[in-house]
Amino acid sequence: MLPLVLNKSDLGAWIEALAAQRRVAAPVLKETSPADRTDLKFGWEYIADPAEVRLDYTVTVLGPKKFLWPARQTVMSYQIGADPRPTAVLDHEPHVLFGVHPCDVTAIQTLDAAFSKDIADPHYLARRADTAIVSIDCAAPCDETCFCLDMGSLYPEAGYDVMLTPEGNRFFVEVKTPLGEALVEKAKVRPATKQDMQARQKFAEEKRGNFHFQLPFEVKYLPEILDASYDSLVWEAIARRCFACGSCNTTCPTCYCWDVDDDVAVDLTKGCRVRRYDSCQLDPFAEVAGGENFRKDRSSRLRHRMFRKGKYILDQTGRSGCVGCGRCERACVADISIKETFIQIAGSR
Ligand code: SF4
Ligand code: SF4
Repeated sequence: MLPLVLNKSDLGAWIEALAAQRRVAAPVLKETSPADRTDLKFGWEYIADPAEVRLDYTVTVLGPKKFLWPARQTVMSYQIGADPRPTAVLDHEPHVLFGVHPCDVTAIQTLDAAFSKDIADPHYLARRADTAIVSIDCAAPCDETCFCLDMGSLYPEAGYDVMLTPEGNRFFVEVKTPLGEALVEKAKVRPATKQDMQARQKFAEEKRGNFHFQLPFEVKYLPEILDASYDSLVWEAIARRCFACGSCNTTCPTCYCWDVDDDVAVDLTKGCRVRRYDSCQLDPFAEVAGGENFRKDRSSRLRHRMFRKGKYILDQTGRSGCVGCGRCERACVADISIKETFIQIAGSR
């Protein structure tokens, strides 16, 4: 089927029509450096006005994961006493994540697989089932930290309902699912002409020329490269710089470890159970009963994170634990780069 075309001038009206039916979250401009107006910072937020939406955004500290898997989420409420009556809390409402980059689409597919396997997670899956995804294609890498082409996240074949490709004063609109069809019914689209298709071809060629492989090996070899590096001195060398702050985990779009707290009312009559992001880079993460900590050293924790990203999540879910978005490197105060770490361990075997 030929793609459809939406004029950029009609984008706001489409978003407004969607917002009448679903809560819309999208990238918005957060702040600019006063010294340099080109230093733009973007973030994912619920929008009140379609004019806020910035589909020309580059990177965000946190991805759209936070709408599916919030940093802090009440999962159960209960009363205290002989009849505790625990009740699962499933808070969800129809959403559209509007303007999701291909790497974040791929990361959401990893979360879908992780939260569906073994014991399915009803809290994540309820939100996910209520969420439509409109993706926006990338013409060029966000910055030097991303390596999405290597990690296979630049060209997702699924995981979105609609894909927009920006070109000049129009978007090409690819409808992927029946939900996507329903979303696009609200848009003022027209069939693509021959000239449109030529312009789309030009976009695809320019995109191909703008992205380059950065790892010196194919990603399919990463699990065995990691296996061969388990006892490498590289882990200790890199971990000496690590502050064990956990920022790499909390910004990662595929990390899904959590801890739970009980929040009990002061009169001790009721409470709720809250789960929140946890980080395998923090000292207490691997502490068990009796005070034993099976990943006490920072080097073993750092190695564990790299193994999670490059092997363990893949082994468990069939999907990569890293999509090459570069968020962990951007967030790291010690300039520890997962891409450089993979390159280093490949050379240290
Ligand atoms: S963000 Fe950097 S310094 Fe902080 S835990 Fe991760 S690797 Fe270590
Ligand atoms: S490990 Fe780093 S580069 Fe990979 S998906 Fe997570 S934040 Fe992005």
